[in-house]
Amino acid sequence: MKSIITKYTKNCMICGKPTTTEHHFLFGKGIRSLADEDGVKGPVCDEHHNMGEITRRIHDNSAAEALSKMVGQLAWEKNRVAAGMTEDEAREAFRKRYGVSYL
Ligand SMILES: [Zn+2]
Ligand SMILES: [Zn+2]
Repeated sequence: MKSIITKYTKNCMICGKPTTTEHHFLFGKGIRSLADEDGVKGPVCDEHHNMGEITRRIHDNSAAEALSKMVGQLAWEKNRVAAGMTEDEAREAFRKRYGVSYL
């Protein structure tokens, strides 16, 4: 898994159990594929991804989904800042690439 979120991809980032799938922090129409390309994803177990109780998982939990997108954007921007952009430039570059800003 190519991930800009974590280098520890063998364990669920929420509970530490063995990874069974990957979560794209940015998702939605036309967005998930960009997140895939950019590595804005992390390791999760099925329960914490989309199969556990609704209050324990990321998907279909509106607050968790909103936070996921904010974290994804921050990680993406941090990457660009590390490559030499200012924070404002990185924010604009994110908006341009993804067509949206969650922050
Ligand atoms: Zn888990
Ligand atoms: Zn997901």
